[in-house]
Amino acid sequence: MPDTAQTDRRGFLTDALRTTGGFALVGAGGFLAGRRGRTELKVWQLDPDKCTACGNCATYCVLDVSAVKCVNFFDMCGFCDICTGYFETNYWSLDTAAENQLCPTGAVIRRFVEEQSGQRFYEYTIDGPLCIGCGKCVKGCALMNGSMYLQVEHDRCLDCNECAIATACPAEAFYRIPAEQVEILKQSTIGILERRGRHRVRTAGDDPQLRSEGLSLLARAAAQRQWRAWQEEWDARQQGEEEPSGS
Ligand code: SF4
Ligand code: SF4
Ligand code: SF4
Repeated sequence: MPDTAQTDRRGFLTDALRTTGGFALVGAGGFLAGRRGRTELKVWQLDPDKCTACGNCATYCVLDVSAVKCVNFFDMCGFCDICTGYFETNYWSLDTAAENQLCPTGAVIRRFVEEQSGQRFYEYTIDGPLCIGCGKCVKGCALMNGSMYLQVEHDRCLDCNECAIATACPAEAFYRIPAEQVEILKQSTIGILERRGRHRVRTAGDDPQLRSEGLSLLARAAAQRQWRAWQEEWDARQQGEEEPSGS
């Protein structure tokens, strides 16, 4: 669960490991690999760069409440006062009353962080169990920074042979990925992880924890780069197969 201890915006921005709603995702790779004893195990995951937040993730999953959930990647978040992922377009007032919220289940939690030069900043976290994966906040947030996006939560996903959402996805955003990879990050965030990782390793000095955090960030980014290269090949192959012969 997200750390709810008092913190400031700078605290968030120095820690790229924090993606609310993403903790179950991050823990699942090791869990699944360990549970089944096979590192080559594959799991379903969706590419947030391809996803158009069409709503199918909420309705096509075989589970009563979808295994797909929203995450908020703090390093991309603007901590906006008027968050387009939180407020209805026609909100009555900038408060947490249900009629002002875009999320149908109240799963996006807004909390005041700090005020600077007359500007107020808010933290937005996702209450995982309440999220139904409808993607409304994702669509709203795309109008600003795009820090909110959908991911399959592996602790809940049944890993169906044929994922019903993958079949229904109009954006062909679903992939089988190595279980230890766990997530698919937006491509624009990989560089952020690398910069943070390098900085942390460089400034760690004798602090083994900082160094290990830095190395984790770099490993996380490397896994994403490796997978993106594979995805490019895979998509090209798929496209080749779909083109009519002789064209
Ligand atoms: S079905 Fe595809 S496009 Fe629609 S919300 Fe899910 S991943 Fe996104
Ligand atoms: S708007 Fe939809 S996807 Fe976003 S947190 Fe609420 S239920 Fe989840
Ligand atoms: S694999 Fe099955 S449980 Fe997992 S997201 Fe797809 S339909 Fe839902």
